[in-house]
Formats: sequence, structure tokens, C-alpha cells
Amino acid sequence: MSAQATYEFKAEIKQLLDILVHSLYTEREIFLRELVSNASDALDKLRITAADSESDDAPLEIRIEADKDQKLLTISDNGIGMTEAELVENIGTIAHSGSASFLKAMKEAGTSADGIIGRFGVGFYSVYMVAGSVRIQTRSHREGATAVEWISDGQGAYTIRELSGEEAEAVARGTRIEIHLKDDLAEQYTDVEGLRHIIRKHSNFISFPIQVNGERANTVPALWREPKFQITKEQYKEFYSFLTYDLDEPMDTLHVSVDAPVQFNALCFIPEKSKDFMGFDREDWGLDLYVRRVLIQRQNKDLIPQYLMFARGVVDTEDLPLNISRETLQDNRLIRKINTTLTKQILSQLGKMAEDKDKYAKFWREHARVFKAGYMDFVNRETFAGLLRFNSSSCESADELMSFEDYMARAKPDQKKIYFAFGPSREALKLNPHLELFRKKGVEVLYLFEPIDEFVMDALHTYKDFALTPAELAKPEDLAALPDVETQAPEDAVAAPEKDALEALLVRFKAVLGEGVSDVRATSRLTGSPCCLVNPDGHTTSSMDKIMRSMNHDNSVPKKVMELNPNHALIRNLADLNQADGNDPFVEQAARQLFESALLLEGYLTDPHALVGRVQDLLSKASGWYVKAK
Ligand code: ADP
Repeated sequence: MSAQATYEFKAEIKQLLDILVHSLYTEREIFLRELVSNASDALDKLRITAADSESDDAPLEIRIEADKDQKLLTISDNGIGMTEAELVENIGTIAHSGSASFLKAMKEAGTSADGIIGRFGVGFYSVYMVAGSVRIQTRSHREGATAVEWISDGQGAYTIRELSGEEAEAVARGTRIEIHLKDDLAEQYTDVEGLRHIIRKHSNFISFPIQVNGERANTVPALWREPKFQITKEQYKEFYSFLTYDLDEPMDTLHVSVDAPVQFNALCFIPEKSKDFMGFDREDWGLDLYVRRVLIQRQNKDLIPQYLMFARGVVDTEDLPLNISRETLQDNRLIRKINTTLTKQILSQLGKMAEDKDKYAKFWREHARVFKAGYMDFVNRETFAGLLRFNSSSCESADELMSFEDYMARAKPDQKKIYFAFGPSREALKLNPHLELFRKKGVEVLYLFEPIDEFVMDALHTYKDFALTPAELAKPEDLAALPDVETQAPEDAVAAPEKDALEALLVRFKAVLGEGVSDVRATSRLTGSPCCLVNPDGHTTSSMDKIMRSMNHDNSVPKKVMELNPNHALIRNLADLNQADGNDPFVEQAARQLFESALLLEGYLTDPHALVGRVQDLLSKASGWYVKAK
């Protein structure tokens, strides 16, 4: 057996520091976040252990002083301070976090130390991204503690000395960090406005005041951490404006504090106005993620699904494991859990908002375009569907909106279908021949105006025990059992032609239209229109068919069944003409015209030349007959 020996790793401190300083962070300004977080921790520790600290009435705060001429940036706090031994242990030891030890000790003692930010014991060294050298002067809060000074250029060595006399007297309780800035960065990091901006970006919600050259930089508190009942409407509005630069009030506010299955606080707003997510601002959404009040990521897009992208706000969690640069997230499962919970919360908030019809209509007008993409959220399918709104054939005006529930409440007995139709406008849908049957039977039809609506209906398929059904695909038999509500036939309705004459006309139409149609048949679907086209497969609507074709760059016209209304004067006349002369050219011309008009209505007619020529020809003929008749 060979002898076994144990060796210790050797660290090239200089190289290790170099990695920490130059490779860990993507942005230089992060050093300020790290030092402010440390100062905040020092103040928190003093607050938590206040019992054994020297009494001092000065308010706990963080002061940042920039001196352009001296190329000097100073960050001081009147927190817990450090003894010489603590300086060696905490600052002089890489990857030793005094804060982590403090947290552990507090936990063991059963004391809450929630606010403490530090964890890894490396953040301090980020100061060397901007510093040529750093001097720390500190005095511990412990009674009789002496003032100590630590100096290092961050190259691997440091000096420590105990201060005495006037030097010591100048050091009060707490820690003062003097950063002698590198020449090329001095201008940038002594610019007061620039410093304020950095503070507001990363450290705005630190709970102690942060004074930059005597003026407080963090004025908006971390409202999401405060009890709801203590927060005024004005405070919410102020927070919202800080977050979004929107000066209007938000349409709605959601403030939640969740403990299970994952701990987080969230404060979300629904803005009055929608952004143009389709255009330039496509990426401008997401919630800001904080861990213990410190910003980790702005506009995180994993915290909410894309269809709720209109929501703006912040999420703060204690639970999130960070990597040491605090820049990338390590545990996406946790983020997913927050997403799941938050999605449900936002949907339920929208449900509450919907109780106020006018308010919800406002929401719908602004945000529906984005919200509708939620048809892909299968987990929340029914809640999502319940929040959809439509205009319909029962609405008095284009502004009126209704839900599936409203529709179901008005449905005929035994009607287990929700009918819908797609069209460019309310006016166009009112003229849609496919809806004549529904008018006759008094059955409501939801109106869809945007291509996405078609996908929504297709994906949902049902709502509760109602099947979502395109009106266009309904068969007259489906509604046959219902009594007519429009009992009066249209003024120009006529008696249908004899069976033989009608049959002959159908045959003639088929012969004229040939391959253009898959069949020609009589229908009871229509009241006011002479004819319409229906899809022979019975399950694709013409609007969906068009979407699919345009996605596949397919310009061909689908073959459909042409249905004729035997009670329409035009069809009756054509049948009579056809019976008198089986080769009458007018019947042929009329058949083509009716077919192309129907194609035009369905949006399939690509070349209108033949149609327009025929209309002109028919008009000249008709005017001739009219002159003679007069
Ligand atoms: P972390 O904050 O993750 O612990 P740092 O490298 O930033 O790591 O700091 C190391 C330790 O130095 C801290 O845990 C803390 O004990 C001590 N420290 C740093 N700054 C201060 C300060 N301003 N006042 C008191 N102690 C400090």
C-alpha cells in the first residue's frame, strides 16, 4: 500500500484578485452597489444588535462624497464598524463573508436578520475595478473600540494600523471607505448626477438614506415590502411613476406577499395606456427582479408570461440563489414557480377588475391585443377564457362587450354551442350571408375582428360545456328545431321554383362553374341573400383557411360548395329562364357573377376584372330593358 498524503491548495492571491476584479462583473458601476450593500448590512447589523451598541442619536445613513479635484470617492456609514481582527478576517480574507457568519449566528440565536444582503465575501474587491488604492478607516461599535486603518492597492498585500491621537479622534463609529480612483475613471465616478443615477438603478430600495454630496438619492421606498394597509394611493402612484416614468395613475395595482410554494413579494401595475409591443418596444417589458432590495435584473422576462407583458412592476424574493456576481440566476425552477403563482394572481386580479364593466372595458380596449395570446396558457385555460370579451350580434353598438358567460346566460334552451363569426367590421358581419340563419332563429353570434381571435377560438375549442363553433360551419339542421324569431320573410321573398326547375338550375350552375366548385345545392340557410359558399370539409372557417394559405404562400382558391336560396327572386327568375331555354346565356352570366361575388365576399377573389366587366355588361343590358319597360 502506498503512503497517502494530504496537500492544501495554494492560491496565487494576486491572480485570484485579478479574476475577481476583472472577470466577475460585466459592469464597472457594480462596485457602488457592492459597497452600498455592505454599508447597509453594517447599519442593519447595528440595528439588530442595538442593545449592546454605544448610544448615539445620529440617524443611520450612508454618505457618498465625490471630490473631482482629489479624484476621490468616499463611502461612509455609521454602522457596526470593524475591529482590527474583524478587518483581517472580513476584508483581508477573500471569500470570507462576515455577513454570512452574522446571519448564521442570528439564525442560531433565533433572531431575524432578513435584510442582510452580503453572502459571498467577494463583493468588496469589486472596488478595484475603479480604484488605484483604497483606504478603510473604521471603528467598531463595541465599547472602547479603537480606530483602525486598512490600506491596499488590491494587488495582493494590505497594511493595517491602529490609529491614535487626532487621527483616531477623527474616526467615529462605523466605516469610511476612501477610493482613490484610477486616473481614467476619476471624471466619471466623481460626477454627482452619474453617481445618483447608479444608486437609483441598483440600490434605490436600500432601507437607509443614501446621501450623495449631501442630497438624498434614494427617495422612493421599497413599497412591496411594506404592509398593504399602511400604503396610501399616492405612495403607490409615486412608486409607479418611479418605475415607469408614466405620470398617469395606473389602471390597477396588485400587491402580493406570497409564502408558499415560494417566498416572494410583488408589486405590479396595469398601466392606463398600452405600449406598442408590436413595434419598436418589442423587448421593453418584464418585471424587475430584486433580491433583498437589491436589483438583480431589470425587465426579467421569465417572471410573467408574455401575454401579461402589459403588467409592470417588481418582484423581490429572499429565496433566490445567486451566483457571486449577482448577475445571472442559477435556479430557474424558482423563477418558474414565481411565474406560475404570479400568473394566477394577475388573472384573478383581472377577474376582480371585470366586476366593474366600464373599468374592464377600458382594460380590454388597451390591452386585449396582448392578452389574447394567452390562448396558449393551457394551465389557466378556463380562467383566461372567462376573461375574454367580444362584440356580438346582440350588442347595440361596436363598443359593447360581452363574455362567454353573458352569451351562455342568453343561449336558447339546449343550445350547447357558442357561435362566432369572423369579419372585418360589424357592418360587414351584419351582411354576411352565413349569419342570416342565426338572425332568423334569434341565435347570438360573437363577432371576431382580429386574426388572433380565430386562433383563440381554435385553441380553446370549448368553454365549460359549450362547444365554440364557427357560425359559418353550422348546418341549417342544427338550428332547425328552434322557432323562427324573424317570422316575416324578406319583402322580396318568393315561392321556390318547382322541384324539377330547381334541379335543372343546380345542374346548369354546376356545368357552368365546373371545377370552380365542389358542388351546387339548394339551402334553407339563407333569407336575404341569393347564394353563399360553404366549406365542404365542415371544420375550417374561410378566415382560418386564408390565414393558413397566406402562411404557406398559397394563392389558390379553395373549392367550396355553392348554396342557392330557392326563395330569392333572382334564383327563382334564373330557374324560370333556364326552364324555358336550357342554353340561355343570361343564366350562365348570372351563375358566374353570383359565384365571383360570393368569392369576393369571402375574400378569395384575386382578379376582379372579369367580375367588373360582367357587371358593366349586365348594367347596359338592364338599362336597355328598363328604358323599353318605361
Ligand atoms: P459580503 O458582503 O458578500 O459578505 P464583501 O466582500 O462585500 O462580501 O464583504 C466582506 C465582509 O466585510 C462583510 O461580510 C462584512 O463583514 C465586512 N464589511 C464590508 N464592508 C463593511 C462595512 N462598511 N462595515 C462593516 N463591515 C463591513
